[in-house]
Amino acid sequence: MRLDKFISQTANQSRAQSRSLIKSGRVRVNQTRQQNPGFQIHPSDTVYLNEKLLSPLKNQYILLYKPTGYICSTQDEIYPSALSLLTGVANSKLHFAGRLDVDTTGLVLITDDGQWSHQVTSPRKQCSKTYRVSTKVPLTELSLESLRQGVLLQGEKTPTLPAEVILLDETNILLTIQEGRYHQVKRMLAAVNNRVIALHREKVGAITLDGLEISQWRHLTSAEIASFM
Ligand code: URA
Repeated sequence: MRLDKFISQTANQSRAQSRSLIKSGRVRVNQTRQQNPGFQIHPSDTVYLNEKLLSPLKNQYILLYKPTGYICSTQDEIYPSALSLLTGVANSKLHFAGRLDVDTTGLVLITDDGQWSHQVTSPRKQCSKTYRVSTKVPLTELSLESLRQGVLLQGEKTPTLPAEVILLDETNILLTIQEGRYHQVKRMLAAVNNRVIALHREKVGAITLDGLEISQWRHLTSAEIASFM
């Protein structure tokens, strides 16, 4: 995201005001004063205005590396909620910005900001999600091509949007989709006469699990938060 856009969104300034703040040398990105409004900031960058950390942190924005055996909802009779892994975080309004099944591992976003989670999950925003998918039987060229072009899920009328599929080996793919239909990945593989035996989400938008171990969590950086706004 451009620095001037980031400043206007996180510091409540117009684009013109943001540009002039940046040009006048009042903005620092990490350790460096940055006077170019078009400078591209990345999810790991920390941005300061007048030496104050800029972050829309009135709310909480959390990245969790979910293990299997936890559910992405607040209550369940069988499995514990993945919220119980957020040791030391107290907030009754926390919810999941996109869910993973109990047997799926990987990247989950959690927040108490309803508008933000809508940005992440709204079909209109077409936020990309990348899954590592292990299948029961080898993937044929034909099934890869069908997944790429879009498949009709059981009980639905419109095919899935085109997906990016990278073949890792004969039973493993990296699948990137822009939608979030119910059990979408498992149903996409079922639509090509296969079955998912392990599913792991490694990326949502520009956010990855890099640096986190399974069951660990961290707060998102301000640039990561803004990347969905
Ligand atoms: N698609 C699925 O089928 N399951 C998940 O957990 C996520 C995407």
